[in-house]
Amino acid sequence: MEQLEIPPTSAEGPWRSGRAAETPCSLSDVMSEQLAHQLDEEINTFSTRPEVDVNFIGSPDSDTSSDLLLAQMLQMEFDRESDSQLRREEKKFNGDSKVSISFENYRMVHPFEDSESSEDEVDWQDTRHDPYRADKPTTTPRKGFVGKGKNITTKHDEVVCGRKNTARMEHFAPEVLVGDGIGMDLKLPNHVYNALKKHCHAEQRRSARLHEKKENSTAEQAVDPKTRLLMYKMVNAGVLEAINGCISTGKESVVFHASGGSLEETVVPEECVLKVFKTTLNEFKNRDKYIKDDYRFKDRFSKLNPRKIIRLWAEKEMHNLARMKKAGILCPEVVILKKHILVMSFIGHNHVPAPKLKDAQLSSEDLKEAYSQVLHMMQQLYGACNLVHADLSEYNMLWHDGKVWLIDVSQSVEPTHPHGLEFLFRDCRNVSTFFLKAGVPDAMNLFDLFNAVSGLEIAADNQADFLAQIEALEKMNENHVQKASKRAFSTSDGGPPLKNSDDD
Ligand code: ADP
Ligand code: MG
Repeated sequence: MEQLEIPPTSAEGPWRSGRAAETPCSLSDVMSEQLAHQLDEEINTFSTRPEVDVNFIGSPDSDTSSDLLLAQMLQMEFDRESDSQLRREEKKFNGDSKVSISFENYRMVHPFEDSESSEDEVDWQDTRHDPYRADKPTTTPRKGFVGKGKNITTKHDEVVCGRKNTARMEHFAPEVLVGDGIGMDLKLPNHVYNALKKHCHAEQRRSARLHEKKENSTAEQAVDPKTRLLMYKMVNAGVLEAINGCISTGKESVVFHASGGSLEETVVPEECVLKVFKTTLNEFKNRDKYIKDDYRFKDRFSKLNPRKIIRLWAEKEMHNLARMKKAGILCPEVVILKKHILVMSFIGHNHVPAPKLKDAQLSSEDLKEAYSQVLHMMQQLYGACNLVHADLSEYNMLWHDGKVWLIDVSQSVEPTHPHGLEFLFRDCRNVSTFFLKAGVPDAMNLFDLFNAVSGLEIAADNQADFLAQIEALEKMNENHVQKASKRAFSTSDGGPPLKNSDDD
């Protein structure tokens, strides 16, 4: 039997073992058990030879016969290197802080794989000694100098100061890359250190400003990051199962469709909407009058910043919807209010919202029916809920399952609001015009409708006279409120001037 040639013992690395197999041999040799055994022994001798440096990629007993294994070992080595760099950065980032941030998740090698990490690597949990930390700058004693006579070194010494300055760079913000300066024996003159410090502070302030701007601005169509986070939290908490898409983007709000989840005790409807009140303030400035003079919100209005006022809109819609529901008016049911996001039930089926009265293709019978429902609804709203919609039109009424549903009541006010009757007048004009144009024979004209809803008996045959009487009534009411409020303040030590009818 032909013997295989044993490779020379010169240190040519573990790759050398592969070449031995190139020597031709017969099939019977290959199959021979004896030969296999012999080869095994040879390989063992080879890998334990002292002059062969196998440590450069792994332990001496590493099997190097497979390319895949070699590649994996190399990869492991790279990963270890990357991890040790990560540890250094982590140390630098955390510094002396009591609260530290772990970079553990960025490690390539999982701790249990890393059990045999080499000795010279830093134990990142050992805080007793940190080789990557600059040695403490030479401190001068209280008296301000060390040494004697000619060898005296004061605290103003250039070298001492320079080192101190270098060490202080560690306290710059984490995003400031200070390089290896801290580890070296670098001496930073005072003027350089001061200039660097000034620059870092300015940069920090600039980046904070930019960040804030980005966080608070609302894109026209989408929602800002804070709102997105709130929406995400609702899904995370299980109140909603998913947020599916946008139904409408108006000037003041964005409405999303969502699948309901579960909320303790209350049943979340299967289909919901999220009405997100826009956090851009421009549009809301024009609407101050709806909330500023609403006694229910008046007190809080003056104390709040504009951003918080937007939450009041959402809150106002919630309260108004609750009142409407109590009176049996068909409207969305409130699920939950989170800051400026109101979650309520969806009016529609299978992700398709019910059409607005303006878009619904109604037969004349349906139109007649819709009119009588709207009339009744307006009377209920005024009489039972003590509310005026203040934005009532065919845009804010939905046609769903053969019924009219009322939505969008964030601006609704009580009739005693200083402009309450004017708002009602406008609502009546919109409703009357829509149904008269649609050819509903029973539809009342604007004046009759106003009287039918409010129960007032204003007699005028033109708009100007009618409005003049409405304004006179509002003025009377305002005087009455002022007197009552003065009386209330003189007889009590504060408190709300009028009985608050907001009982929800
Ligand atoms: P905006 O103040 O922007 O007008 P709305 O409350 O009127 O806000 O909502 C805008 C649109 O979103 C409505 O015209 C309607 O099509 C849809 N929408 C609002 N709420 C619901 C709801 N509960 N169910 C179905 N669609 C709704
Ligand atoms: Mg609307």
